[in-house]
Amino acid sequence: MARIVVLGSLNVDLVVTVPRLPRPGETVLGDGLRSCPGGKGANQAVAAARLGGQVAMIGRVGDDGFGAGLIENLDRNGVDSSGVDRDPAAPTGAALIFVEAGGQNMIAVAPGANAVVGASDAQRAAARLGPGDLLVMQLEIPVAVVERAVQAARQAGAFILLNAAPAQRLEPGLLSQLDALVVNEREANALAANEREANALVDHDDPSTIAAALLTLGPKIVIVTLGPSGSVFCDDTGVHRVEPFAVKSIDATGAGDAFVGALAVGFARRLPIETAVRFGNAAGAAATSSVGAQAALPGLDDLRRRFGVDLSSSEQ
Ligand code: ADP
Repeated sequence: MARIVVLGSLNVDLVVTVPRLPRPGETVLGDGLRSCPGGKGANQAVAAARLGGQVAMIGRVGDDGFGAGLIENLDRNGVDSSGVDRDPAAPTGAALIFVEAGGQNMIAVAPGANAVVGASDAQRAAARLGPGDLLVMQLEIPVAVVERAVQAARQAGAFILLNAAPAQRLEPGLLSQLDALVVNEREANALAANEREANALVDHDDPSTIAAALLTLGPKIVIVTLGPSGSVFCDDTGVHRVEPFAVKSIDATGAGDAFVGALAVGFARRLPIETAVRFGNAAGAAATSSVGAQAALPGLDDLRRRFGVDLSSSEQ
């Protein structure tokens, strides 16, 4: 199986449940503080490792207690954490989350060490990649670093998967270097809208049309995740819809990260694209059926038991 290198963010999520969200200047008493590992990069690394991937994480945390906890969490989940640097000059990234009893939330993110991930980290990621290995990235580290890593990974002959989340403007040319682009519907619309300004890209809300339009920007495969409606993927064979798995969904946090982690494992095992996307759908669905980002990430046994999805029978 090919190796998976995740270059991306690590955060500690600090969560307090409150009877109602505070107004400006107001103090509201909540319940006890929960601190959970998060950050899209770390979530995706853990998602892939729980599903049997051989995963290494490259990123930065602060030289503080939160950072030590995040590294320990990677180790516990079987992710190689030796590429996570403890930066003496920046604090560990943190998300401060208020959750109202009704489910509404308010989030402020302090990117901390994620914001100082730099060119040397892109090189460190690429140094771990051989031909056919996977580089997985998101957009919670500086885009310039993502661009640098794409160049270096191409030279290494690696397969490059970008989850363009959270949505932001990308330099023209970056998309054309990707093997796979993964976005949710909102991010797909944002990317297409940006490109529409620059080029005469089709103005249409239908996800299949948007996926096809994004493919014209250069990625070899475009995948748009559609929450409870599953996903679509588009490659040179056309646009294909992949049906969702039915679940009683209680918390959508981390569904996209579960999807990307599972997809990466599917690609690392050289599964046909449709099988890999279906595997992503199963992991995404499972992640919505319990609370939290990483706590809800499934293992292979969960997916086999719940959805009858069995990778061993489809490995090539
Ligand atoms: P994000 O978390 O990035 O917004 P999505 O909400 O699109 O991503 O979820 C990722 C994937 O997880 C979807 O493509 C789908 O397969 C699965 N998924 C998400 N929500 C549900 C749900 N309510 N029921 C079934 N599958 C879901």
